[in-house]
Amino acid sequence: MDSYDLLVIGAGPGGYVAAIRASQLGMKVAVAERSELGGVCLNWGCIPTKALLKSASAYHYATCGDTFGFSAENVVPDLGRMVTRSREVSAQMSRGIEFLFKKNNVTVLQGQASINEDKTVRIDGEGPAFNVAAKNIIVATGSRPNSLPFAPIDGERIISYRQALIPDKQPKSLAVIGSGAIGSELAFFYSAIGTEVTLVEYLDRIVPLEDDEVSAQLSRSFRKAGIKVMVSAQVKSVDVTGELCKLAVETKKGTETVEAETVLSAVGVVPNTEYLGLEKLGVDMNRGKVIVDKWYKSSVDGIYAIGDIIPTQALAHVASAEGICCVGKIAGLDIEPVDYDNIPGCTYTSPEIASVGLSERKAAELGIEVKIGKFPYTASGKATAAGARDGFVKLVADAGTDVILGAHIIGENASEMIGGLVAARKLKVKASDLARTVFPHPTMSEAIMEAAEAIHNETIHI
Ligand code: FAD
Repeated sequence: MDSYDLLVIGAGPGGYVAAIRASQLGMKVAVAERSELGGVCLNWGCIPTKALLKSASAYHYATCGDTFGFSAENVVPDLGRMVTRSREVSAQMSRGIEFLFKKNNVTVLQGQASINEDKTVRIDGEGPAFNVAAKNIIVATGSRPNSLPFAPIDGERIISYRQALIPDKQPKSLAVIGSGAIGSELAFFYSAIGTEVTLVEYLDRIVPLEDDEVSAQLSRSFRKAGIKVMVSAQVKSVDVTGELCKLAVETKKGTETVEAETVLSAVGVVPNTEYLGLEKLGVDMNRGKVIVDKWYKSSVDGIYAIGDIIPTQALAHVASAEGICCVGKIAGLDIEPVDYDNIPGCTYTSPEIASVGLSERKAAELGIEVKIGKFPYTASGKATAAGARDGFVKLVADAGTDVILGAHIIGENASEMIGGLVAARKLKVKASDLARTVFPHPTMSEAIMEAAEAIHNETIHI
């Protein structure tokens, strides 16, 4: 039986990063993967959605000749070709992981892995099943779409993000249930290429994990773009028997019927932890997620878990950070645990959203007195030149120490701008430091400096 220092189950952004780092640290490493290298992130999540959104953006600009000064006739979106491009981008990135594994001497075991009671790992692939031994096992098996009990995903009328990324045809109308990042991005994409979209959110605002003002801005922008936004709206049933799906939606005004050719269920994800043998081994679990300590060790020696299957934010960069931290600890390095208070989150709609740290609401809930500084994109020369004036930068600073506690950006390029603020938070930078930092002109990032100045009522440009 082959034997490894580390066997990683799952080659998503948690698993592949952990495997490569472990090999770099001198371990003999194998990765078991039942499907595509790169996991959901590269194949069904982060990357293919961004490729589609880029197509939508290119199409949008091609239709904006009146604004930007050109003529273009017969500009027609072709979803099939957009999907082909998106799949090629994913395949290219997946091949990149294959290359990295080869370069770093990581062995790939293609097949479904499960852990035997003696802690060897069984691999069921195309050939005969076989077992391998490993001193340490990291489980990084990710997640799959959740669904509402009364609206099971059938892949045709009621679809998940998977089918939404490779549709047979463009639906004329689409009802999206759930306005988190996945629901909002796909709602935006389909609306941008001409599908009539209704976005239904149970809570009282869309992108409910974001700052309240960010939610309000995205609602305005979505409505301006023609998306019908329903909040405080609970889907009670979905009838798929007719030509159009009929959603019974309970709102403050009573029960409304939403009709759509297709329904996209975007109500979160569930961890892939069944069939792994974890319960039999006595691994502590809670609602399908593996309970781990701050070094990702489960309740059973030698078994670790990272990424979407543990109760931390289900984000690719979180999974990768956990993988690096977990492997570093296994190797005996002196490392810091992941700081979950300083994790950025992005939603790649137009306008984009990016945030890190405390929102104004969260600070109030925690009883922290804060000062707020805000700068609108309407006052940004670069945003105006780009024809992208929807949005703002909002900073939350501690009222006593002036240290930046939170940053909330909605507007073009938000996701490219948040990294600097994550670093600022890590380094406990003060708003006054940011205000005295010279940002390049003209850039949208100047709005960060201006928002910092606004905290001290020093804004010059508005
Ligand atoms: P995964 O990426 O899910 O990888 C797990 C791997 O394990 C899979 O390849 C699976 O085939 C394999 N596997 C499972 N069980 C077994 C088994 N028994 N044996 C062998 N292999 C197994 N996050 C962001 O940070 N930014 C984004 O923009 C973003 N966009 C997203 C858009 C969509 C539509 C979706 C669905 C998700 C998005 N996410 C985004 C979330 C991100 O994709 C996940 O948080 C991330 O992929 C989790 O990484 P992971 O390594 O835990 O698992």
